[in-house]
Amino acid sequence: MAKSTEPPARAKNPAPDEDPAAAMDPAPAEDRAADEAQAAAGLLDGDEPGPVIEENPGGRSNFVILVDHASARLPRSLGDLGLPAAELSRHIAWDIGALGVARGVAAALDAPLVAQNYSRLVIDCNRDPAVATSIPVVGESIDIPGNIGLGAAARAARRAAIFDPYHQRIRALLDARLAAGRATIVVAQHSMTDLFKGVRRAMHAAVLYNRDRRFAGLVLDLLRRDTDLVVGDNEPYFVSDATDYTIPRHAEARGLPHVEIEVRQDLLSDAAGQARWAALLSSILGEAERRFFATLGATA
Ligand SMILES: [Zn+2]
Repeated sequence: MAKSTEPPARAKNPAPDEDPAAAMDPAPAEDRAADEAQAAAGLLDGDEPGPVIEENPGGRSNFVILVDHASARLPRSLGDLGLPAAELSRHIAWDIGALGVARGVAAALDAPLVAQNYSRLVIDCNRDPAVATSIPVVGESIDIPGNIGLGAAARAARRAAIFDPYHQRIRALLDARLAAGRATIVVAQHSMTDLFKGVRRAMHAAVLYNRDRRFAGLVLDLLRRDTDLVVGDNEPYFVSDATDYTIPRHAEARGLPHVEIEVRQDLLSDAAGQARWAALLSSILGEAERRFFATLGATA
């Protein structure tokens, strides 16, 4: 979703027979791999952490948990992108608390988890690299000097080092599950700021989707059973092809049931809050899963 800019206008969905991925990169796979390795080498030093966090890949759950904005880490070669330290720990850099919640959910459900290990300020892993805001030049309302005026090579290096390995890992995991005949429900875990452009949010959490509301609708109904919780239905953000990548490409394109979940970041500011939300979400996801498959069984 658009976290650091105004919510964009809803994107027009492409016709079902259009595959936006097909037109993106015509280079042969071997050439591309070599180019990517070379470009990536320029961005991340050998002693820096890899771009992808992958945990419990053999997890027995039907769920796969993804965290696009898990980390605020910057590659050493990018310095501080010209931003003050206070900005680099804010929500413009990452989804505060999202990884902690996702880990709790993955552990409770015995689900695989794949998370991005670098800041969305380097490149947003939930946005098509062809979209201008893939490498943001403005975060909420502050300029990001290190991202202004980037040339094609610098953009390609960010994509090769950060974006591509993350999505390749997800693709490989989903391919392997498909090959093994396993069901998969994709959960994209995010957190949202409690204060956006000076306005405080009352919403505790939000359930987001795009074309396919089947699974998200179940999660929403279950979250709303707690009448003390204010839960957004596809607001304050929504999933679209222009503002999102993970759900459209990995879940919708494969016809996999899915949900994108936002939790307000101030509720996830410490381990206790993350554990509380992990317990709530894992229980709700488990119940939604039972209902989802029961419905499928009833209509089969
Ligand atoms: Zn996010």
